[in-house]
Amino acid sequence: MDCIFCKIIAGEIPGNFDYKGEEIVAFRDIQPVAPVHILIVPRKHITSLLDLKNQDFELIGRMTKIANELAVKVGMSEKGYRLTINCGKEGSQIVQHLHMHLLGGRQLSGRIG
Ligand code: 5GP
Ligand code: ZN
Repeated sequence: MDCIFCKIIAGEIPGNFDYKGEEIVAFRDIQPVAPVHILIVPRKHITSLLDLKNQDFELIGRMTKIANELAVKVGMSEKGYRLTINCGKEGSQIVQHLHMHLLGGRQLSGRIG
């Protein structure tokens, strides 16, 4: 499958990993928009939030837990952070493999979009 995140997870192209678990990995975004910009990604190829089946929604909870732990680890627990999932074309999802963006390390804009 021609998926950049699947290739990073498989070790076929390099990634700067913060976390490697059985189900979920986290690596730095190649074009960070904030001092901390980490992508939380399930190993399983799921295209987007819209493709999650009923029993898969607990995965989002587990991804959120990893994001929270990483936020603490990189020192953002006091000042805060943002966690975002882009979904589909108008959601500006560019990579078609489900992922969360963990952003922080500076004052982020109050605007969502
Ligand atoms: P999306 O808009 O799909 O939510 O965000 C995809 C993100 O993946 C973007 O922030 C982009 O910079 C990042 N990205 C795209 N290609 C690569 C890559 O090859 N390696 C890494 N680490 N990040 C990538
Ligand atoms: Zn993939």
